Amino acid sequence: MVHSQTLRVRLARQVGAVAALCCLTLQVPLAQEAVRTGGLARLKSGNERFVRNTSASVSLGTPTREALAKPQNPFAMVLSCSDSRVPPEYIFSVGLGDLLVIRSAGEVLDKSVTASLEYGARHLNIPLLVVMGHESCDAVQTAIDSTTVEGPNLQYLVKAIRAGTNRSASEKKELRGAILANVEQVINDAMTGSQILRRGVSEGTLQIVGAYYEVATGRVMFSEPVLAPATTARK
Ligand SMILES: [Zn+2]
Repeated sequence: MVHSQTLRVRLARQVGAVAALCCLTLQVPLAQEAVRTGGLARLKSGNERFVRNTSASVSLGTPTREALAKPQNPFAMVLSCSDSRVPPEYIFSVGLGDLLVIRSAGEVLDKSVTASLEYGARHLNIPLLVVMGHESCDAVQTAIDSTTVEGPNLQYLVKAIRAGTNRSASEKKELRGAILANVEQVINDAMTGSQILRRGVSEGTLQIVGAYYEVATGRVMFSEPVLAPATTARK
C-alpha cells in the first residue's frame, strides 16, 4: 500500500535474509552512509522541484559539455520503463552527467540491462540504484490483460512481467498493485541474477530502492532501501 512519500517493496519471501542483512547494514561506515543518503535526498529534492514546476533550467551548452568530456561521475542509477512519459532526468531535475539511466519496457531485466547496472555499480562506483515503475504502464497493463503479443521478443517481455504480477488475483486486477509487484520482482531478479549487485548491497557500497512515478502529478514515491539479496527469480 502506498502512503504519501513512502512505498514499501515487499520482500515477504526474504524475511530471514532481510533480518540477517539488517545487521550488516548497521556496520556500514558512516561516511559511506552519508554518501548514499545524499544521493537519494538529491533525487527527492529534484523531484519536489519538478512537482512544484520550479525546476531550474539545466545547462546543456558548450561549457557544460566540455567540462563533462572526462570520466563520468553520476551520483545515481535509474532503471525505469522506456515509456515516453517517464524521462528520469526531467523527473528528478538533474543535468548532464548526473544519472546513469537504463530503460526497458516494464523495466524488465535481460543480460544487457543487468550488465549495465553492474557496470555502474562496479566500475563507476555509483552508490544508489532506483528501480522505478510508473502509473499507467502499458507494458504491465498488457501483461495483466493477458493480451497476445507477436514474436518471441515481445513474448519474452510480457512473460517476464507476468512472473512478477501473477501472485494474487487482486494484483492482477489492479494495475498499480501489478506495477509495484513488477518493481519488486525486478529488484529481486537483479539481486538474484547479479553477484556484483548482491555483493554491493551486502557490503554497503550500493543502496537499492524501489520507486513509483505518478504521471499526472509528477511525484515519485520511494520504497524503503532493499537490504536483502533475493533468492527467487522469474521462471
Ligand atoms: Zn511503462
